[in-house]
Amino acid sequence: MASLDTKLVNVLGDRTAKALETGIGAKTVMDLLRHYPRRYEVRGELTDISTLKPNDDVTILAEIFSVNVRPLHGRKGTILEVVVTDGSAKLSLTFFNQAWRERDLRVGRQGLFAGKVGEFNNKRQLAHPDYELITDGADVDSAVDQFAGKFLPVYSATGKLPSWKLAQCIALAVEALDDIPDFLPERIRLNHRYPTLREALTWLHNPTDLSQAESARQRLTFDEAFLLQLLLAQRKDQLRKLSATARPARLGGLLEAFDLSLPFQLTQGQREVGVEIESDLAQSHPMHRLLQGEVGSGKTVLAIRAMLAVVDSGGQAALLAPTEVLAQQHLRTLKKLLGPLGEGGMLGGSDHATQVTLITGSQSAVSRRESNALAASGDAGIVIGTHALLSESVAFHDLGLVVVDEQHRFGVEQRDGLKAKAQFPPHLLVMTATPIPRTVAMTIFGDLDVSTLRELPLGRQPITTHVIASLEKPAHLSRAWARIREEVALGHQAYVVAPRISASSPTDADMEFLFGNASQELTSVEELAPMLHAGPLSGLRVAILHGQLNSDEKEKTMSAFAYGEIDVLVSTTVIEVGVDVPNATMMIIMDADRFGVSQLHQLRGRVGRGDAAGLCLLVTTAEPESSARIRLEAVAASNDGFELSRIDLEQRREGDVLGVSQSGTRSHLRLLRVLRDESLIDLARKDAQDLVQSDPLLSHHPDLIQELKKISADESVDYIDKG
Ligand code: ADP
Ligand code: MG
Repeated sequence: MASLDTKLVNVLGDRTAKALETGIGAKTVMDLLRHYPRRYEVRGELTDISTLKPNDDVTILAEIFSVNVRPLHGRKGTILEVVVTDGSAKLSLTFFNQAWRERDLRVGRQGLFAGKVGEFNNKRQLAHPDYELITDGADVDSAVDQFAGKFLPVYSATGKLPSWKLAQCIALAVEALDDIPDFLPERIRLNHRYPTLREALTWLHNPTDLSQAESARQRLTFDEAFLLQLLLAQRKDQLRKLSATARPARLGGLLEAFDLSLPFQLTQGQREVGVEIESDLAQSHPMHRLLQGEVGSGKTVLAIRAMLAVVDSGGQAALLAPTEVLAQQHLRTLKKLLGPLGEGGMLGGSDHATQVTLITGSQSAVSRRESNALAASGDAGIVIGTHALLSESVAFHDLGLVVVDEQHRFGVEQRDGLKAKAQFPPHLLVMTATPIPRTVAMTIFGDLDVSTLRELPLGRQPITTHVIASLEKPAHLSRAWARIREEVALGHQAYVVAPRISASSPTDADMEFLFGNASQELTSVEELAPMLHAGPLSGLRVAILHGQLNSDEKEKTMSAFAYGEIDVLVSTTVIEVGVDVPNATMMIIMDADRFGVSQLHQLRGRVGRGDAAGLCLLVTTAEPESSARIRLEAVAASNDGFELSRIDLEQRREGDVLGVSQSGTRSHLRLLRVLRDESLIDLARKDAQDLVQSDPLLSHHPDLIQELKKISADESVDYIDKG
């Protein structure tokens, strides 16, 4: 008898075990049983041979009429052809290299034969059918009952392991299975009326009917969600037990002065989230919060308020931004919004003022030394930076809060690297403008508290988006350039986005990954800008921006654009995230089909940030009705980031949704689909939280601890840390 941890060698023998290890990476009985069927084939009611149609899955009762083995034409091997008849017609069954079946398949014997009807040389046939011969004198009716109406698992075959071979091995393993412990707490199992683990595994691989298979699948899917949520709940519980310095907001400090000087009223949502953040910061355990919100919903202000609260109570805050363009912009915004409050130590600075400094990879050595010193002494209450913030030379006097903007651009190590620069666990606020569906958030960011900003500030006009098919309607593209001229004439500004920097530069890896190789000629910034300048946009102030410019050039261009000294910015996706120039009202995206749905939504979020309406044109050469075109139409039809991110996620494979490493064949998420299994994840999360609350160390559930250990050991769970 076998347990789930028994090595396959001991159940199936050496050769088969080896084949299974190379084929599907299975070493133990559990590994093998986790190779779930893709679907089931039903051996249906008996069919007359005369009515068979190609591609039907059929079961017939027939008598063997002739048997014939011959060598394969021009190749090694034999073919066994068995012709059967049911009186209504004849049908041929073929087996390759299985001449040994001749011993059983003798003329005159009756049997049941099942398979998919194929056609060869205009003759219908079944290749490698399942069959069961009926022993002479046996009860034909009961043989039929047993054979037909059965649900046969179909497995994804790999290499040398066809589905039927896998089915055989799995059936043997299921048969050998002893009484096995069930890690799912019985109370939870009974509550959901799930089968035991043993039943579930047996039913999934060998159901008597589809409802059995379904209930097995439910249970095993629940297991996946439950274990994951349990890990997250435990992690959250541990975080809650860490101690951090409480940073309660102080009356009469920077935060209050900032609120008074704000040129606008906070939205209802901003106020609510602001309160959540402030009360988190006032706790003596670290805040661990994700702020997600629609593009342009005003997350930056909330980050600034959180940072000021921390500065007010004597600590420092670091703001990590994914690009230099964005880091520079944050510095400009802060300086503008803080005014004298941000000029601490300087003449004319306010009494309780602080200093804001910027650390990036490409600043000069002198200015870098200056910034480092301000951070280390604590004179800079707020330190903004790119990845450079993580370098060893950067130290803080008392880092109390880490804010990560556009967190999806960073890995866990980077976030943790910055956190490690604090003496005590700092508070953490991560922000993302790619709103994701709730269950995905719960799964990826399960150990974070989530705040969501759904509304845009009052007075925003919706962005209108159109798709322009530049091949079918070239006139529309000319019209698009003319529209830019009109916007500029009204005193507004525009972006033109292209997928690559120069004719020779590759597109970015993400795009290759999503859309395959970029063999098609793609528009480049360096080619497009002079063309526009000499042609349709002549006389306008056109500038270019991309990642390969040095930091001075980037800063100069971006701030010139922000101050309205540039009319049209021709750029790569470096402006995708965060860039905020409210006077820009129009965007044209070239080769828009090269970008993902959420990415397009992010990009166009650069316009329509002020009180004038925004216009975004998606230019494409993709065929009408192509999936690329449909994707673009979807973006044009909706301004709802949540809906679009769902569309985006639905197009990815599950591993990519969760960011699981691609090699994760051993990943324990096999059945769970975070978009589809929303209610199941809800249930599992609730159960997991209740359990951790009553028994944080799971001391009453040793089997569960074992099971969690197995998952944690699996390297592919790093997605859990994505927060
Ligand atoms: P995102 O959430 O995409 O990061 P930002 O924080 O950059 O958005 O804010 C977008 C713009 O909206 C900025 O110009 C900001 O100053 C402005 N803004 C933020 N909150 C409000 C508000 N309550 N009323 C009006 N404008 C606001
Ligand atoms: Mg932002």
